[in-house]
Amino acid sequence: MSLEVIEPATEQVLASLPQAGVEETDAAVARAKAAFPSWRAVSPPDRAMLLRRLADALESELETLALLEARNAGKPIGDARGEMGMVVDTFRYYAGAPERLLGDTIPVAGGIDMTFREPLGVVALIVPWNFPLAISAWKLGPALAAGNTVVLKPAELTPLTAIEFERIAVTAGLPEDVVNVVVGPGRVVGERLVAHPDVAKVAFTGSTEVGSRIAAVAAASIKRVTLELGGKSANVVFADADLERAAAAAPMSVFANAGQDCCARSRILVQRSAYDEFMALLTGHVEALRVGDPLDPETEIGPLISAGQRASVSSYLEDGAPVAIRGNAPDGPGYWLAPAVLAPISNSDRAAREEIFGPIACVIPFEDEADAIAIANDTVYGLSGSIWTRDGARALRVARAIDTGVLSINSNNSVRVSTPFGGFKQSGIGRELGPHALEHYTELKNVYYATEDS
Ligand code: NAD
Repeated sequence: MSLEVIEPATEQVLASLPQAGVEETDAAVARAKAAFPSWRAVSPPDRAMLLRRLADALESELETLALLEARNAGKPIGDARGEMGMVVDTFRYYAGAPERLLGDTIPVAGGIDMTFREPLGVVALIVPWNFPLAISAWKLGPALAAGNTVVLKPAELTPLTAIEFERIAVTAGLPEDVVNVVVGPGRVVGERLVAHPDVAKVAFTGSTEVGSRIAAVAAASIKRVTLELGGKSANVVFADADLERAAAAAPMSVFANAGQDCCARSRILVQRSAYDEFMALLTGHVEALRVGDPLDPETEIGPLISAGQRASVSSYLEDGAPVAIRGNAPDGPGYWLAPAVLAPISNSDRAAREEIFGPIACVIPFEDEADAIAIANDTVYGLSGSIWTRDGARALRVARAIDTGVLSINSNNSVRVSTPFGGFKQSGIGRELGPHALEHYTELKNVYYATEDS
């Protein structure tokens, strides 16, 4: 059965592809397994050189990849270019890793004790549709640098850049079968990868629901997993903050990528004494957002990924939802939805508790620092968040008290190639990016060498 890939901005078929099943998945794992011994044996400088060449090859096709991603995921072309730039940077960053996978020597009696970071083998990478190639690169970079071979399963809705990636990897000189892309349904291809005895580890990004299922299936074989899951992050604005800056930055911290972002600061917590002023400032910024054709360089927000996603997100605007601010959206074909701000909202309301994954923000008033921390932490998630205040000591106190993996102070920017990314609580297990990701793609080995002259 073939897979029809739809362009969200036009609702037209963008591509029609063959879908893999269990048999094709097993074949991809077998290829990756066969390629592993020689890939792990590539010398560290040579592996580093191949990753640098891969980065160069991706950079030379950046514009084509960005256009493909923009059309397939419905994301603004400017965002798509930024994401492809991050893909290139990710491989450049991890090109430094093969020669820096250092071990320890540990003082012991009678000999020398040393540690090594060994590759795991075949790693399955299962990714979502919101940042298709960027999230793949976060996994591919450290996995390949550490000497693993991979099977990459893109989301059914957005497989196109992953397919191009496989081609570019071979063009750049990576040996055949080090990277294997399998396009097919999560329930079939994904589940088979998680259960497969020859897959050593699963690196997953997606919903908490599917992540929980993957952890359960992986447990049967004590398979390693890293999980990057959902979020419901708080953007905490204290009354002493630069309110104009905070209000100007808040909309795109929820509505970027049409709100389909695990890091979305979808709960805006505003100190009650500054509530009216903040809302007045926020209104102008939300109404000015440019929602429209992803291929127009002026566009800030594109359509949602699918009709199903729009229906699910729209349900939060029904039943007398307190829509305080509404942006605009085009008419006609495409899965459009105008950004909306619900305010004031209680943290116990459904819209404040569930990950909406669309362009809807909730504004929740709070009284004081303790109240802000309590509300920020009153969620099953713990992925990202922001703190806006001019009081430096308070910023750090609150940052330490919020149970979340990635925070920013007087900024909503929390994803960088060189710094760790990942969640507390039901937002996940493990970290991606930065130096820490490598720990999750290697196994620590301890070797003792007796040196006493008997
Ligand atoms: P999803 O969980 O439905 O699917 C993600 C991937 O898992 C897809 O490739 C899918 O085919 C596959 N899959 C589905 N069922 C499977 C199964 N039973 N076994 C194995 N694989 C299976 O998520 P989605 O709808 O594509 O993406 C949206 C979700 O992803 C949101 O919850 C969002 O918060 C989360 N997300 C998290 C991060 C992060 O880094 N924390 C980043 C982006 C998205």
